[in-house]
Amino acid sequence: MPNKIVAANWKMNLLKSEAMSLFNELKNGLNPGDEVNVIIFPPSIYLSEILTVNESKIHVGAQNFHFEEKGAFTGEISAQQVKDLGCSYVLVGHSERREIFGETDDALLKKIKAAIRAELNVIYCIGETLGEREEGRHKAKIKSQIELLSTFKESELSKISIAYEPIWAIGTGLTATPIQAEEMHAFIREVLLSLIANDSAENMSILYGGSCNEKNAIELFKCPNIDGGLIGGASLKADSFSQIVYSFE
Ligand code: PEP
Repeated sequence: MPNKIVAANWKMNLLKSEAMSLFNELKNGLNPGDEVNVIIFPPSIYLSEILTVNESKIHVGAQNFHFEEKGAFTGEISAQQVKDLGCSYVLVGHSERREIFGETDDALLKKIKAAIRAELNVIYCIGETLGEREEGRHKAKIKSQIELLSTFKESELSKISIAYEPIWAIGTGLTATPIQAEEMHAFIREVLLSLIANDSAENMSILYGGSCNEKNAIELFKCPNIDGGLIGGASLKADSFSQIVYSFE
């Protein structure tokens, strides 16, 4: 069975005092059942302090890192540094990294490999643009993004989850309907099963992301192939995020 996961992507939001008070509110108030993994991805400059105060079940991860292990890469942090700090997860392939920062499939593959070498869990984000959907190319796009995972061994795949995030739904208020989302999640599972001939395909968690909030999470999380969510805007309020975490039935 795939693990249930609800992850918060704070992106480049919150000053330090705001980030710490949001994290403390979640740490003290949120009590997820054992079947749900909660992960917070704060801006990386707050990771150290958050990890120091965290004595809760909440996992903490880095939104970004470089695939090289060390050296002359001014401004970057490595997967090993992220792991050494105490993080357990990283995000890879978010559409903002692909589109704004030009991260290519080749770079993403190197990042996933570096994360796995550092024994980090990966949430690998995939998704189509509105244009690709309107032209009927959304499934081909998703399939090609999943194919990036085809060279990994079973033990490596067990460290990877997928976040399906239609780009037209991210930060726009336009959520995919449960029917649209389930159709794509079922398709992702089918592609995984055809690509990877082992249990990892059955067990890989597939999260939905894109304007998911406390109002639509219950219906989305009821869908058989939706194993949780990657939450942007609605993760910046403790109340909204907690309600999303409690949305599994
Ligand atoms: C995201 O960027 O991963 C995301 C899902 O954002 P939002 O929830 O704000 O659409």
